[in-house]
Amino acid sequence: MKRNILNSLDSTVRPRENLPSTRYSIRFFIYTIFVLANFTQALASDKDVVAATGSLLIRGGWLFDGISENRRRNSGILIHDGKIVDVDFLSNEQSSTLARVIELAESETILPGFIDLHAHYNLDLIDQGRAEEVVYNGIVFLANGVTATWSAGEFYPERVIAQRDLIEAGHAIGPHLFVSGPYFGAFRCEYNVSVAADECAAWPNNITEKEIRDEVDKWAQEDVVSLKIKQATPDEAKIIIEQAHKHGMTTTGHLANYNVEYDVSTRDAILMGMDRIEHQLTLALGRDDPRSAQMNEMVDLMIKHQVYYGPNLQMYGGINLRNAHPTEMTWADESKYFTPYTQARLLQRGIPSPESEQKEYDQRIIELMALYDAGGKHLLVVGTDEPVYTNMLPGFAYHRELLAMTYAGLPPIDVLKAATINGAMALGVADRLGSLESGKSADLLVVKGNPLEDIKTARSIRLIMKAGQVHDPEDLLRSAEGKIGPAGPTDHADWAFQVKPLRD
Ligand SMILES: [Zn+2]
Repeated sequence: MKRNILNSLDSTVRPRENLPSTRYSIRFFIYTIFVLANFTQALASDKDVVAATGSLLIRGGWLFDGISENRRRNSGILIHDGKIVDVDFLSNEQSSTLARVIELAESETILPGFIDLHAHYNLDLIDQGRAEEVVYNGIVFLANGVTATWSAGEFYPERVIAQRDLIEAGHAIGPHLFVSGPYFGAFRCEYNVSVAADECAAWPNNITEKEIRDEVDKWAQEDVVSLKIKQATPDEAKIIIEQAHKHGMTTTGHLANYNVEYDVSTRDAILMGMDRIEHQLTLALGRDDPRSAQMNEMVDLMIKHQVYYGPNLQMYGGINLRNAHPTEMTWADESKYFTPYTQARLLQRGIPSPESEQKEYDQRIIELMALYDAGGKHLLVVGTDEPVYTNMLPGFAYHRELLAMTYAGLPPIDVLKAATINGAMALGVADRLGSLESGKSADLLVVKGNPLEDIKTARSIRLIMKAGQVHDPEDLLRSAEGKIGPAGPTDHADWAFQVKPLRD
């Protein structure tokens, strides 16, 4: 059956004005394709998987494009070959039949695909450190509307790169997987290093400048887009940042974490050219801590140097947030995506203590809102930082983070921008991702409700599209049930952290 889209337009749709002629010709080109191909497929329901090479019109409901200050009525998003061809498309302009149309309800809103700028794929499931699980974690991310992730430090970068390549080749399902490579600094040895004197074979204390530059070069060749610095000395950090920038890579850091000489202060890192900061600006313990006096200076530096900031509230708030808002912070059974054996182990482990005390958490909120109030709202990004010590998963944690950011005092519109366009800008991929604009990858989600009023509706997802391919969230989640973690006691080999020495 052919779908005639000429006659049923909603009268409230805004008229288009002054279209540049190039856009008309792109449209004409597409009409020509439709006519020539004589498409006769039935209408796509949202249960169908629509091939990325097909053409698709999503019409009705509301649209938040990632950039505007509000949502607007969706007259149509036209998608072809995995890309957005047109937004605010009025489908009665020419006589045409489109191959597939997805009609949205008045209650539904289209959003750009979410971006997680601190998306760990590593999990600690057998009490032997963290190891990457990239297959089903990615599916759970995607099912939650997260269409792009940057993994903020990997212990098995090879696994992440292999999965990235499978996804990009269309042989596996998952978000755009931006790779970080291994940690740059002594955290490459995970928690085995706690003071400066501790030796890390993967990042020796006497690592040379050449070794550092060679390491950066090595991962640049693997198309790593951004590096994570953690437990590097100021001298090391300076070299890492400089060498990364030579390759067009950005850097971020988990800083001010240890009062020892192998850490870099936020101030020094910003002056060295670090592009983003994770977790905290000062790590003061509340407003009265002398360190909090530095906060205004850090905020000014962040704005002056346009440094992005991911506060990772849901991780630091952790159990306290879940106790304070039990039904809002947990709404799904996340444990069922682990293997039965892993579920039992996690149950035995119990609930970990909060990652930060209430006083320290309060300071994180103060810092976040200080940066926002000083004019830094475009510098905020969303990162889950969920390395999985519990039976909860980073894909779901994304929605905990969105909610925690509104609890901190941010308006939902600015949280949604942090989740979309800001993340793409911070990662240097805003030419392709982060907003619903013509020419960009068709990465979006349709949610049942208005997330600009209630951010929780962003987790009520009807469909997800990544690079033009439509996914049903329930199908994705079902495919991941019972899959994460070892199958039994003889299956531990892939799930333990192992140090790979830097030198032969
Ligand atoms: Zn992290």
